[in-house]
Amino acid sequence: MRFNKYFQVAEMACKCGCGFGTKPGDIDERVVWIATCARIHFAAPVTITSACRCPSHNAKVGGAKASRHQPQGALNGASSALDIKVKGVAPAQVQAFLDELLAGRFGVGYGETFTHVDTRDTPARFDY
Ligand SMILES: [Zn+2]
Ligand SMILES: [Zn+2]
Repeated sequence: MRFNKYFQVAEMACKCGCGFGTKPGDIDERVVWIATCARIHFAAPVTITSACRCPSHNAKVGGAKASRHQPQGALNGASSALDIKVKGVAPAQVQAFLDELLAGRFGVGYGETFTHVDTRDTPARFDY
């Protein structure tokens, strides 16, 4: 199953194997489309480094307690966060593109190796 020509549903699955993220409705499709915009803009492969996380896997990988990678009640249990890596592009550069694309909405942060995006209501820009 695919969201589009660039991303498969299976790429969003929780890495612990619990099954969270294996159905299209397990992730807020807006973040998938945001990743798709990055794919098209940079014309480079985009790797999903983290998408859906069940609470126990989130704790195991040191995610924030209220991480939006976890099931969100307001979204019928879907995750609303995605971490991406664009081949050959610095995470801060990806963040700058997403900031412009999203016109001040949502959450966008970057670390050393990835850029995080989520659909939070109160906009935030940050680095890890
Ligand atoms: Zn899991
Ligand atoms: Zn993240």
